Amino acid sequence: MGLFSKEACCFCGKEVGVMSRSKLTSGEYVCTECKYLTNPFLRLDHMNREQVEAVMKEMEESEQKFQSIEFRKTAIQRNGKAWIFYDSWTTTGEFAVVTPETAKYKYHCVLDMDLVRPFDKMLNADRLPKLTVSQVKESITLTEKKDASGNLSERVLHIPYFRNDMNIDMHFPTFVPEKELGYFYNSVAGILSRWVEKSATRQKMQVDNMSRTIGDAVMAAVKGEGEEGIAKAIEQGLDKSQAIDEGKVKKKGLLGTLFGKKG
Ligand SMILES: [Zn+2]
Repeated sequence: MGLFSKEACCFCGKEVGVMSRSKLTSGEYVCTECKYLTNPFLRLDHMNREQVEAVMKEMEESEQKFQSIEFRKTAIQRNGKAWIFYDSWTTTGEFAVVTPETAKYKYHCVLDMDLVRPFDKMLNADRLPKLTVSQVKESITLTEKKDASGNLSERVLHIPYFRNDMNIDMHFPTFVPEKELGYFYNSVAGILSRWVEKSATRQKMQVDNMSRTIGDAVMAAVKGEGEEGIAKAIEQGLDKSQAIDEGKVKKKGLLGTLFGKKG
């Protein structure tokens, strides 16, 4: 169990030295190759074997999702390295982050813009209180790291995420010009905080749609359309609700539905 002893990876069984393994809370070790099959933002030292195994199973699905989304891209490319922020905020609010470190991982991790906020173990992920646009923006930080002799060693862009087993940091070496990084940071923080405004709009549209659906179902009942008419009205409401969630319904379309011909 010493520092220089080799330990077996609890997934593939390979014996690995201290430089190429991570220790789990359950005391086992994960080799670097198996680590690259997990999520690049995981804090392995906060997880046990079962939790890591569950993540490994989720990653293939996450990759399929990543490939199926039409992301916009904000990127910095320097010295053969790339830092990319992918976002789908106009539709479903997913994002993804690629850095020279995460590029070693087999799968992309698709992240949820609604979870961009500092982790708080007192809060429940299903019922998070609303943050303002500026609270979200302020929680995304760009900090300078210095080495022992006080020289700038790197800059770190941190995106807080509501999971205590994940840490989303983008490390930028000093060869990335400060100005270019400044634009990148403003773009990332701007996109993630604007999502808060967008989701407030979506929520209002859902409430409007729900009351209209109930109204349509009542009308169908009054008009004697029977169960079929009621079921049809509810079905249309549910389709619309899903479309709002997927960002397919624009604000403009709402007026069209209210004053236009009934479907
Ligand atoms: Zn392994």
